[in-house]
Amino acid sequence: MLKPGSTIGILGGGQLGRMLAIAAAQMGYRCIAYSPEKEIVAGDVCADVFRNKWDDAQAMAAFGQACDVVTWEFENVPVAPLAALGEKLVPNARALETAQDRLNEKRFVEGLGGQPAPYATVDSRSDLIEAIDRIGAPGILKTRGEGYDGKGQWRIQSAHDAEGVSIPSTPAIYEGFVTFEAEFSVILARGADGEMVFWDSTHNIHEGGMLATSTLPAPDSVTMQVEKARNLARQVADALNYVGVLTLEFFATSSGPVFNEMAPRVHNSGHWTIEGAATSQFTNHIRAICGLPLGDTRTIAPGMVMRNIVGKDANTPHETLSDPATQLHLYGKARALDGRKMGHTTTLKFD
Ligand code: AMP
Repeated sequence: MLKPGSTIGILGGGQLGRMLAIAAAQMGYRCIAYSPEKEIVAGDVCADVFRNKWDDAQAMAAFGQACDVVTWEFENVPVAPLAALGEKLVPNARALETAQDRLNEKRFVEGLGGQPAPYATVDSRSDLIEAIDRIGAPGILKTRGEGYDGKGQWRIQSAHDAEGVSIPSTPAIYEGFVTFEAEFSVILARGADGEMVFWDSTHNIHEGGMLATSTLPAPDSVTMQVEKARNLARQVADALNYVGVLTLEFFATSSGPVFNEMAPRVHNSGHWTIEGAATSQFTNHIRAICGLPLGDTRTIAPGMVMRNIVGKDANTPHETLSDPATQLHLYGKARALDGRKMGHTTTLKFD
């Protein structure tokens, strides 16, 4: 168990790191962030910031020295430099390695009995044509690495589109388009002793590949599939000997939950847990990586909606507070660029 006053290192400087650091501070820990980015919004609530490149071995070693435990908030952190952190890195790097490549991730989850959308690797135009021939269209061409919030993705409506689309220079994957009833995620926390807890699964609605809202209660199409999805998530967490918060995203379909992707971290579809659950995803991640017992994850209101504030929506965020049931979270980002997550609101509904 990490003593109060201990230092937690956070790799990445975005909003997830910011909300982790706020939860950690409440429990008497201090956080320091490591990020090569210009804007490090986690830095506003951290005791110190290492503004270094990921492959700066000296800086990474010094960061490890300065921390009692190190975690990440960004899953595209390159894995090789993290060897300098040794056992201080929690969760372990295998979870990152698995999630950084869509192909590895799908094979790994399939090996545990999960069902992803039909897929094929694409490294050339002829691969793409073959993939569409086998899997059919519509479908989505996705880069295997570095993708998030719908970035690095191209929709393909018909075999004809394959002629026009530019093939990414990095390895890619073609996925058949899933006809789903709803999207949902399973978010769990696993403690150092293997104990696991789950939050309720929200109904997630995406716009342009990015999460727009998460809502409770979720429709039956989701709740009927949660148990099966949780069983898969449980196996993934055990197989990775994972410690911390882990997210798996699913499509609810007429043939059961189809695995979309995993995020080895706290997740946007779990932001509602700050006000809406007895213990938030951020608090439980800190508890898990510090070797503390996990908190109760139960939902505290019968209804809830979490809404992302994206791009220009952030120009008048305080207007959302005219509804007294709404809580506002702004991430401190300077420029409200299109498609940029600037904050979110959570509205609890007690009747
Ligand atoms: P991803 O980054 O892979 O999670 O994709 C972002 C969003 O795009 C998903 O949450 C879905 O709304 C949509 N999407 C991605 N892949 C598929 C698919 N194979 N079939 C249908 N919709 C998809």
